[in-house]
Amino acid sequence: MSHEDFPTENPAVVTCGLPYANGDLHIGHLRTYVGGDIYSRSLRTLGQQTAFVSGSDMHGTPVAVNAEKEGVTPEEFALRHHEKYEATFPRFNIEFDNYGHTHDETNTELTQEIVRTLEAEGYVYEKEIPVAYDPDADQWLPDRFVEGACPYCGAHARGDECDEGCGRHLEPGEIEDPTSTLTGNAAEYREREHKFFAVSDLQDYLQEFIDRLEGTSNAQNQPREWIEGELQDWCITRDMDWGIDYPGVSESAEDSEADQTESGRDEGDESDGSSSPSDTSDLVLYVWVDAPIEYISSTKQYTERVGADTFDWEAAWKESGDIVHIIGRDIIQHHTVFWPAMLRGAGYVEPRAVMASGFITLNGKGFSTSRNRAVWADEYLDEGFHPDLLRYYLATNGGFQQDVDFSWSKFKDRVNSELVGTVGNFLYRSMLFAYRNFEGTPDAEVSEEVEARIQEAIDEFEAGINDYSVRKSGNAAVRLAQFGNEYIQRNEPWKLTDEDPEAAAQVIRDCVQIAKAIAVLFFPVAPGKMQALWEQLGEDGSVADTRVDAAFEAPPASFGEPEALFEKIEDERVEELNEKLEARVAETESESDESDEDAEKDMDADTDADIDFEPIADDRISFEDFQELDIRVGEIVAAEGIDGADKLAKLTVDIGVEERQIVAGIKQLHDLDSLSGSKVIIVANLEKAELFGVESNGMLLAAGDEADILTTHGDAVPGTKVQ
Ligand SMILES: [Zn+2]
Repeated sequence: MSHEDFPTENPAVVTCGLPYANGDLHIGHLRTYVGGDIYSRSLRTLGQQTAFVSGSDMHGTPVAVNAEKEGVTPEEFALRHHEKYEATFPRFNIEFDNYGHTHDETNTELTQEIVRTLEAEGYVYEKEIPVAYDPDADQWLPDRFVEGACPYCGAHARGDECDEGCGRHLEPGEIEDPTSTLTGNAAEYREREHKFFAVSDLQDYLQEFIDRLEGTSNAQNQPREWIEGELQDWCITRDMDWGIDYPGVSESAEDSEADQTESGRDEGDESDGSSSPSDTSDLVLYVWVDAPIEYISSTKQYTERVGADTFDWEAAWKESGDIVHIIGRDIIQHHTVFWPAMLRGAGYVEPRAVMASGFITLNGKGFSTSRNRAVWADEYLDEGFHPDLLRYYLATNGGFQQDVDFSWSKFKDRVNSELVGTVGNFLYRSMLFAYRNFEGTPDAEVSEEVEARIQEAIDEFEAGINDYSVRKSGNAAVRLAQFGNEYIQRNEPWKLTDEDPEAAAQVIRDCVQIAKAIAVLFFPVAPGKMQALWEQLGEDGSVADTRVDAAFEAPPASFGEPEALFEKIEDERVEELNEKLEARVAETESESDESDEDAEKDMDADTDADIDFEPIADDRISFEDFQELDIRVGEIVAAEGIDGADKLAKLTVDIGVEERQIVAGIKQLHDLDSLSGSKVIIVANLEKAELFGVESNGMLLAAGDEADILTTHGDAVPGTKVQ
């Protein structure tokens, strides 16, 4: 790694993956935003000049599809969600320096400018490709308007993403057996001229870039397969109205295009309401072009508001910025291949780091927005919980790239033992003691031991930032509080007040300094609570304006009686919350005939309420054909998630004659730990496949999108043939 440690002299930009303006936020969605907020606050505490930006992703087909269902314009639909997000983030103390959206003027202009630059630099070309078309609806079918089978793994996939199987980005025309989501009819492929970004021209650059890239290891490792393999160019245009228009071509390019179109193709036919194959004037840019550019646009808007002296977006993005992208791991490819290629092609600074977070499960299973199986962001606050408790839970429960499970019970345990028992307990007892005996900070010098321990905490904090670990930087203060508790216990100041008041003053002076250091170092994780502590210490102003050095500065000589900062969560409360959740899920299930489990972490969950069962195909297969399938009873011996794959699990299955390793897309739909010992049904003679680098030797049979696993009714032993 070639980067200088933080803090650097460069302006830093911390970005969060754009939330898709398409649904309500649940606490699972908040992980990357909480992580980004903590990371940017931590950088500032270190003294790093930092802008923290994001915005809503307004474009793309899910917005268009859902707006149509509601009978409103895509703009109206997306803006409504954008405004909701903009209001929700600050309620969780997630404070962006700028939060824009991809449809605003800044982003529209900058996107078109960048695409023009890419064209001028020779990175954009035209190519005729097959594009799905619905003849009944008389419409092209970009991205989410078409579904079918993934050409790589065979899983059911959406037009631009194999979201239930191998997770690959899919180019237009790649999906097999395309079906229109507008009419449910089979789609046909028609030839159509589109614009492509020559990512492959930048392959050598990307191979070097990935070696320089810092961040979480998943973001460094996962793209290697793509970057070192055959790199595909990206189709950057779509046949849609909703999006940013493809920018007009330059004069000379127009001439040559005119020459081309004269040579045979029919340009003027607009009778079908769609476009003729060679006319690119009504194309919009693919959502993945304008979405990441919002990172730059949002920084630019920040500069326009505060002035370049405070933060210079051009210095950050065009000269020497330290750019850190914080994203969900489902969009690693976009941020480590496509995006840096675009930045490079257009002459911008490359990302320094990508931090890709794992997902959040709820009681061991995926969140399901359609089933109301979620803890909604508003709901969490309405229940009266302080946002900092959730911030702490999300940030420090596991490594950033690991999945984190949320349950009210685990939440209670961590709040009670760590925030109440360790941090709150230390702060309250030491400050109460200081207040009662000294009316504030005792007049004494901080001991060497405590100074050294505070320095250790600062070092941990700083190392966490440079390791891109919000858990590590967040835990530095908790560990310091733990030390504080031991220190006060060991020195027993309550015994000293009478016999040796000077020694008592010394111990309490140390404790007050530890409290102040905690306020500074824990502020990024718990800004609301630590601001309250700051005020309890008699300090003025905001902790946000302090730097790590403040951890060593003496607090004011006098302060008032402290109040407990954290409150215990009672067991009854947890029971009550669990019952509420269960009742709501049950109610939603009985209210709707919806059985469409979209156990997804990302916001663009499909919101289709009805399932349309596919009709039974007319073609029959022969009994001989059926007999060719070797279907067996198996028993699951072990099940574990595959690292880096959102949905895939690796199963070891005993099928009587042997043990098989089988990959199945059930990771988010089942509690893997409880699967061991389950009887399952396996297609044993299916050709082997490799998914995410893991060999799958057979197929687990399961019903529907929820992967309801097939089992036996009686007690057939593993190996028994199903016929
Ligand atoms: Zn696939």
